[in-house]
Amino acid sequence: MSAFTAVTYDVCPHESLFEAMNSYVIEKEEDIKAAAAKAAAQDVAPVVHVYQTPVEDESAPLLYKEYTFDAYTCRCGEPRE
Ligand SMILES: [Zn+2]
Repeated sequence: MSAFTAVTYDVCPHESLFEAMNSYVIEKEEDIKAAAAKAAAQDVAPVVHVYQTPVEDESAPLLYKEYTFDAYTCRCGEPRE
């Protein structure tokens, strides 16, 4: 089967920031959505991209799925306390 990798992104719409943080290999027995959620929690990342690396061309990972996590969305646009 193909390999999957979860990449966490730091996102701030106010600063036009969309920056990759860390990548995590998804073990083949792991549930992909659960693995994405785990990576998001680890990095407090509002966006996680799961890339699929085709066996026939490992240099060309494809975006398999994007997950967004509202709980980790940046709060810098909200009024300060
Ligand atoms: Zn922000």
